[in-house]
Amino acid sequence: AEEIATIDNSHRAPAGVIEVPSRLLMGPGPANAHPRILAAQTLPLLGHMHPPFLKIMDELSEGLRYTFQTNSKYTLMVSGTGHAGMEAAIANLVEPGDKVVVGNAGIWGERVAILSRRYQADVVEIKVPSGQTFSYETLKRTLLEHKPAVLFLCQGESSTGTHQSLAGLGDLCRQTGTLLLVDTVCSLGGVPLFADQWGVDCIYSGSQKCLSGPPGASPFFMSERAMEKLQRRKTPPATYNLDMNLIGDYWGWFGKRSYHHTAPVSTFYAMREALALVAEEGLEAMWARHQELHHRLWDGLRSMGLKPFVEKDEDRLITVNTIKVPEGVDWAAVVKNAMDTYSLEIAGGLGPTVGKIWRVGIMGFNAKPQNVDLVLDAFRDGLKRQGKL
Ligand code: PMP
Repeated sequence: AEEIATIDNSHRAPAGVIEVPSRLLMGPGPANAHPRILAAQTLPLLGHMHPPFLKIMDELSEGLRYTFQTNSKYTLMVSGTGHAGMEAAIANLVEPGDKVVVGNAGIWGERVAILSRRYQADVVEIKVPSGQTFSYETLKRTLLEHKPAVLFLCQGESSTGTHQSLAGLGDLCRQTGTLLLVDTVCSLGGVPLFADQWGVDCIYSGSQKCLSGPPGASPFFMSERAMEKLQRRKTPPATYNLDMNLIGDYWGWFGKRSYHHTAPVSTFYAMREALALVAEEGLEAMWARHQELHHRLWDGLRSMGLKPFVEKDEDRLITVNTIKVPEGVDWAAVVKNAMDTYSLEIAGGLGPTVGKIWRVGIMGFNAKPQNVDLVLDAFRDGLKRQGKL
């Protein structure tokens, strides 16, 4: 007979209803979610194959077509955060031995290089100093020299606050037989993107930044060209969880629907609302709102003598703003004071920029004048407390 075991009560989940403080998230993400998006998450669950839920998935695909500006049928939400989209892109587009040129302008390029090596890519990493972007000429030279299978660029490099221009690259990539892969985690909905007109082949993004959703869904897009490459593979992607043939088959890309995994049903409700909000406001209005608030932030910061980390105007990402920490200023004390006094998150640097910069996100639902003004108050107060203003 089986021995009777005694219950161990030494570890128990805390009893009672969860409580969380209310904070204004003006760092590089997540941003605060729109209340309508949060409300959608409280709706009753549906089964992940129930027709009303499949209809919501169709609405997500269609909403993403607008948000990415594409006619491709291959749009969906990868179940997972931006990293899941990143891994899905590399795992599906790259076959072992393929050459991948990775534009490393900060930690997101660095991660894509690491990830690509794990999928046995022959990685050519190109770098720029922190706070700079790749010129068209450099990318052209690199593409012509290597004729890679994939070129990776990060449109909004949140570790440095740079915006990578994609102008003209789609045409070049077509000449060299290269698929153009772009990270838009920090930029989608905040800055212009025209997937089809710019000849982009694959995009992954995030739910918790300019789209004002909760973390956990990664907007994803593949062009016809990218899909052809996936169909031509000699071996299936080394990941089952992120195999886009299998996920696409759940999303109806190939005319039927097969179970692959249980969609995060409530997160998808939230993203359905997020994309409805994008459509209601309109992309041009969203981009203009982000631009206007970026200027409002910098007018205020400059009046305090603060300077941008990114030297060139045209290289500056408007959604994640990077600010030089002046000589002798304790950056961490400013961050701590913002949280303690204003319940406001602003962030320090990431990777090589730690200690050198602050990062202020102005994204989605949080992109409002009163929030920018509160950030400015927090900087003014933080600097005054150190006798630096
Ligand atoms: N790429 C960029 C540019 C990001 O800013 C982030 C998140 N900070 C990611 C990728 C990764 O996204 P996640 O944290 O949602 O996995």
